[in-house]
Amino acid sequence: MSLQETVSAERIHIAWFGMRNAGKSSLVNAVTGQDVSIVSAVPGTTTDPVRKAMELLPLGPVLILDTPGLDDEGELGAMRVARTNRILAQTDIAVLAVDATVGFSEADTELPAEFAKRSIPFVIAFTKADLAGKELRAVRTQEAKALLSAEDTADRIVFTSAATGEGITALKERLGAFAPEVTREKRIVTDLVAPGSAVVLVTPIDASAPKGRLILPQQMVLRELLDAHCTALVCQPEELAEALGNLRTSPALVITDSQAFAKVSAVVPADVKLTSFSILFARYKGNLRSLVAGAEHIDALRPGDRVLIAEGCTHHRQCEDIGTVKLPGWISKRLGFAPEFSFTSGGDFPENPAEYSLVIHCGGCTLPEREMQRRLAAAGEAHVPVTNYGVAIAYMNGILPRSLAVFAGGES
Ligand code: SF4
Repeated sequence: MSLQETVSAERIHIAWFGMRNAGKSSLVNAVTGQDVSIVSAVPGTTTDPVRKAMELLPLGPVLILDTPGLDDEGELGAMRVARTNRILAQTDIAVLAVDATVGFSEADTELPAEFAKRSIPFVIAFTKADLAGKELRAVRTQEAKALLSAEDTADRIVFTSAATGEGITALKERLGAFAPEVTREKRIVTDLVAPGSAVVLVTPIDASAPKGRLILPQQMVLRELLDAHCTALVCQPEELAEALGNLRTSPALVITDSQAFAKVSAVVPADVKLTSFSILFARYKGNLRSLVAGAEHIDALRPGDRVLIAEGCTHHRQCEDIGTVKLPGWISKRLGFAPEFSFTSGGDFPENPAEYSLVIHCGGCTLPEREMQRRLAAAGEAHVPVTNYGVAIAYMNGILPRSLAVFAGGES
């Protein structure tokens, strides 16, 4: 997974919905000033949104998701709903493109309530406005208002034309006005240490490490520390004792790869705070308190129980050893039997994980926060406990309280 993809997960996700002939893609291109959309030669074959990372001021870095038409051929209603739900789970801002000369389809009319239910700010953008006269516009405006809730206002309705440029600036301004609602203030680590602190990062370079670079959680933590003018000392577990000995004062924090937790905990003096990259991401993307509570369910597993081990990335399972080999091994050894392990990666997380007794999720560095929250909510609704790689490993090594001390009671 590249740094670019990490940045993508952190970008504001703007998803564009609409029927295939609504002029959605032309509108996306007019707003972005770029040719974002890819039109498939075979209608109905594109089931994933086209993604494009770009700057859209004043929002800043955004990810444009040009979604397949709501009326894509060959998809059953239930599949369309599932696909739309997957996209909605990643959406920070939504645009519903509706052909002004045609009006709302049935599928269109369902979306504003869905957006509102998920607290997704949205705009209804009528397209092809150059072909719609005053009376037709009045009709469309009334139809749109009927779909808006009391809290939504008429400025959520914009008439646009990719052909004449009408309404494009107004639509951009409307999107930009959502910035306060969707801008993230959360930090991974620098709210836990004073500016300018020294922090030690322990990053084992073993067979599962990608060649020639650090994995994404490590890159993101390192970059955030540098942005905060902290001093970061990076080493492998074997060099940690010497590295700590060379420091004139104790570091404010030691952050280790979870796989090396036991070894690192034995080396780091008891008065020095210690946590893991994975635990930092449990807080950053998920809900640390509930993921900590989930760890205790490891010991409640019984023979025959199913455990889902879920990772956020697909292409190269950079933490693959830990997810598919080490975690199952450690859990089986602790319990004295092997539960039934299943594995998912990327977007494959089940809508309803009720068949599992426990979910263990990676830090999810490549997932938008909304997607991680959706996964936690799905498990919560199914009454399935969820824990996190780093939390589970710290728990099994008996160092969970120590690894949470840096949060000083503010776990969530
Ligand atoms: S397995 Fe999870 S934490 Fe590791 S790189 Fe992939 S998404 Fe990030």
